[in-house]
Amino acid sequence: MPQTATGRRLLSLYRHLFQQFGPQHWWPARSRFEVIVGAILTQNTAWTNVEKAIAALRVARLLNPRGINTVPQERLASLIRSAGYYNMKAERLKHFTHFLLIRYGGSVQRMFRGKRPGLREELLTISGIGEETADSILLYAGDRPIFVVDAYTRRVLERHGLIAANTSYGEIQRLFMTHLPADPALFNEYHALLVAVGKIYCRRTPHCESCPLRCDLPNDSPLLPRPQEVIAFHEGVH
Ligand code: SF4
Repeated sequence: MPQTATGRRLLSLYRHLFQQFGPQHWWPARSRFEVIVGAILTQNTAWTNVEKAIAALRVARLLNPRGINTVPQERLASLIRSAGYYNMKAERLKHFTHFLLIRYGGSVQRMFRGKRPGLREELLTISGIGEETADSILLYAGDRPIFVVDAYTRRVLERHGLIAANTSYGEIQRLFMTHLPADPALFNEYHALLVAVGKIYCRRTPHCESCPLRCDLPNDSPLLPRPQEVIAFHEGVH
């Protein structure tokens, strides 16, 4: 693939992140089905809460398509309580496993077989599965070269002037997928690293001074402390 200036910049950001944080080992799961369950449960919650919910499903021997499909929804909701929004997420898990059983006989392997291009659209027809969840399933469970866009991705790119405030999910995704090689391993690691920098540095109030992506900001960026602020800080004047 001929490299564009944007591609070079995106790769440079990636390298800085990788150098700082190293491999993130995403997605932590024992099976592809578990990845999918995690992708649904992680909506609007921290991963530690998802881990507890998945552990509860495993102990109850329900971490499989038939188990989730047949267990009463109230019991499912109580088992995944730690993940938050448990009634809604129980319903979403039910919707997904119903889809998997009807369409693919309950087999995740069969769902991903053949790399059919229409799978993303199929997943998006399932109630409660939006673009980020569908793409997480395709990338992390299906090893498809598709970029996952989340709130951290949007925030970092916007602060670095790579996108405008109202850029759509699809446009952000195309930015990565047009300018980077179609490599699932790269997309996997890149997304995980953006989450890492978002959690540690690129928070609501950014901590650019010590961030590994500081070098990509122009020196006059309003996100960086002004020189007199730095001097005042070092002199203990606050
Ligand atoms: S904290 Fe600052 S330097 Fe780091 S990613 Fe966010 S905007 Fe960029």
